[in-house]
Amino acid sequence: MAEYIGYSVDERVATITLNRPERRNAQNQQFLEELNEAFERAAEDESVRVILLRAEGPHFSAGHDIGPEEMEKGAFKRIEETIPERGLLGIHEWESKYYLGFSKRWRDIPKPTIAAVQGACIAGGLLLAWPCDIIIAADNARFHDPVVMMGIGGVEYHAHTWELGPRKAKEMLFTAKPVDAYEAEKRGMVNRVVPLADLDKEARALAVEISRMHPHALAMAKRAVNQTLDIMGQGAALQSCFDMHHLGHASAYGQTGGQWMVAGMEAVKGKK
Ligand code: ZN
Repeated sequence: MAEYIGYSVDERVATITLNRPERRNAQNQQFLEELNEAFERAAEDESVRVILLRAEGPHFSAGHDIGPEEMEKGAFKRIEETIPERGLLGIHEWESKYYLGFSKRWRDIPKPTIAAVQGACIAGGLLLAWPCDIIIAADNARFHDPVVMMGIGGVEYHAHTWELGPRKAKEMLFTAKPVDAYEAEKRGMVNRVVPLADLDKEARALAVEISRMHPHALAMAKRAVNQTLDIMGQGAALQSCFDMHHLGHASAYGQTGGQWMVAGMEAVKGKK
């Protein structure tokens, strides 16, 4: 039984629910494994035509769980223990699987995916929303990558430029300020903005509408768009920016004498 992720199927729509609201749906390894299992299950179930990703609680996701418990006992601690022997390769391998790898896998599931986003969608939260084909945002949704404040050039999945265009992407990263739902809609990053109270209803209605289409045609339509993005270089750019992100981790490790996740604390203080 999954602890952090809910799963149900109704009317050919699989609903996957981020269900760790007490931690604002912050993601640890178990959370991501359960989420991936849910996506795989929906991908394999022939009765499922559309996948709807939603979140319990006031916020979609606060990003990767970097709370004290995770840092002391979780995957980050286990990776850290291998650094003396393996250097920073363990971090690259772990993030390749759990961050870039999972996000790319979800992006290419041959069924339409819809994310319903409310409240904060911060850093790692973007790695769950961006891979979805359609994003419905509540009017209080905000999309936020403040990782530059941690001394790294952005989160592990650099879709910013593709989603927002180059100038807005730079502003989002340079200022570490959130992009609100209406701005995201204007840029084409979200399909539509709806009142918070209507989010689940609207997202579900769209999922049911799409689920009536021919499944193979949907798969081909999705592939046509994703393939076009790949021909434009999206896949290679994502990998290249991911590797650059790891230059950030390595640089943080060097600058702080062992803290790979955060550098540039002066910048963080300045921001405060
Ligand atoms: Zn990282």
